[in-house]
Amino acid sequence: MSTQQQLQEHLYRIDGRGYGAYKDIAGKWHWENGTCLYVDHVQADPFASPSRLRVAVPWTRPGHLKGNPDRLRGASGYVGRLARQTTGKVQAKRGSGRSGQGYLDAGGQELLDRTAVVLGPGEIEIRLSLGLPAAGRRVLGRTASDLLQGMIQSLRETLAFSPSQWEQLRQWADVAEDQTVLRQRLKEAGLVAFVPDGARLPRKSGVSDLPLEPGKVIPFASPPSMRVTLSVPHRGEICGMGIPRGVTLIVGGGYHGKSTLLRALERGVYDHIPGDGRELVVTVASAVKVRAEDGRSVAGVDISPFIADLPAGQPTADFYTQEASGSTSQAANIMEALELGCELLLMDEDTSATNFLIRDARMQSLVHRDHEPITPFIDRVGELKDKGVSTIMVMGGSGDYFSVVDQVIRMNAYRVADVTAEAQEISERMPTGRARETRGEHWEFGQRVPLPGSINLRRRNRVRAEGRGLSTVLLGDETVELSGVEQLVDASQTRAVATIMAYAHQHYVDGRRSFGEVLDLVYLDWEQGGWECISPYRGHPGDLAWPRPHEVVAAFNRLRSLKTSKGFAPR
Ligand code: ADP
Ligand code: MG
Repeated sequence: MSTQQQLQEHLYRIDGRGYGAYKDIAGKWHWENGTCLYVDHVQADPFASPSRLRVAVPWTRPGHLKGNPDRLRGASGYVGRLARQTTGKVQAKRGSGRSGQGYLDAGGQELLDRTAVVLGPGEIEIRLSLGLPAAGRRVLGRTASDLLQGMIQSLRETLAFSPSQWEQLRQWADVAEDQTVLRQRLKEAGLVAFVPDGARLPRKSGVSDLPLEPGKVIPFASPPSMRVTLSVPHRGEICGMGIPRGVTLIVGGGYHGKSTLLRALERGVYDHIPGDGRELVVTVASAVKVRAEDGRSVAGVDISPFIADLPAGQPTADFYTQEASGSTSQAANIMEALELGCELLLMDEDTSATNFLIRDARMQSLVHRDHEPITPFIDRVGELKDKGVSTIMVMGGSGDYFSVVDQVIRMNAYRVADVTAEAQEISERMPTGRARETRGEHWEFGQRVPLPGSINLRRRNRVRAEGRGLSTVLLGDETVELSGVEQLVDASQTRAVATIMAYAHQHYVDGRRSFGEVLDLVYLDWEQGGWECISPYRGHPGDLAWPRPHEVVAAFNRLRSLKTSKGFAPR
């Protein structure tokens, strides 16, 4: 059995040697009181990705976490943040390259399923990475020893939990459970989204997901006609705005808070941490934000419900392009969302193609419909509703939509009013004069089958499937650009997307299974075997967070080499 003292002696002994001498510390080291350090991977040099470590600290898992994955997810979120604060205090740059730099992937404002913390029944496992210290390329053994001792000591002290920390832990678990339950309640209540009274939606800045300072925020208040009360296990009855199934328009003047509300709804597919301001803002789990994304590639999507008769005669029932336009990309984004079972589309005029949303009477007179390939969204939104797909749309620029919607919400100085009756009255009094333009009433949500030969994971004969920041996946020789996938919210999800793509391709993409079937199988493996079965970093996939199937398939869809065939039976 290797002990803490032996590790210390060993590190002292290799002090001053070449960096490769660190290799020998891989393995398991026993600390006093049952704490263990696992060194899973030792970096090759001070400039390479930091070494991967795990620290396991004994604890007795509280009974309220037992058998409830949502509570565990909430509690892990809390423990991860606590541990990150602690280890952050110990680390500092200590030498060359990444010496002394540590990373604990505790996450941001969303409570995602992460791999950084495992709350087992008898121990807490914290997974982190740390640059083992060096001077130039020489081992700084004494520094390394101090660093590891200090880090483990402070982790142990922190994870002993004070009474108020136990209380916080419970609160984070409660918050995750409440949000999950609330999201499930939507369906029974005939709703697609819910925003509680008192929610604080705006963020600090365009580049920060932290809440805007309390003094500057107008808290959310529901209009009486849309007020509903839902009950959750811990907070009890909560009151707020329920957005029913169907088509909902958010209108209002510029800078009055429309996009802020929509962004909160986009993020409502995830749970938020206590104090975020968007706790209990929930949307149905399959909600997808779609936008125009010109320049993206499209592989075999049936966009014919929205786009037909293109000037060069390209087929749009099986549409391929390396460079989609604003409208064709938005059509592809919608059809891809529907393919995976999306029940709620979220759209903002700020990020939509105008000609995709609307074609007014005057334009209909000037440009004959035979010369316009686009069937605008306004003429399909009712059929989508009949097929069980709701829409929430921000639209400050055109009142033509009043004729096709079920609810109209108006934002005025960040306050919400239900103006549905008024909008209906206006649409009767002031006809738009436009004719409904569609090509064919019968259309389906197709299923595509990814063809394995069109996906190449290898680069110079090695598998490359990596996330880079929030919006880039490197797969084989390709760089997949994901900035148009707005519900990807965490770089750890992006890393997970890359990992899942490789796993899916190696195991399930066979030229017969549809995207939906492939992803179902991957998620089943994860449920049964955990991350360890999907990630190549056995024992230490410490920096991943679960994306939804939608975000994984979104990355496949943007692979420029992708080829697909039509699936047979719908899912
Ligand atoms: P719109 O889409 O209507 O043009 P935005 O949603 O972009 O407006 O909001 C405009 C600005 O107002 C943003 O800077 C946003 O942070 C801020 N804001 C939004 N909602 C609130 C609120 N409830 N209280 C205070 N400021 C808000
Ligand atoms: Mg806006």
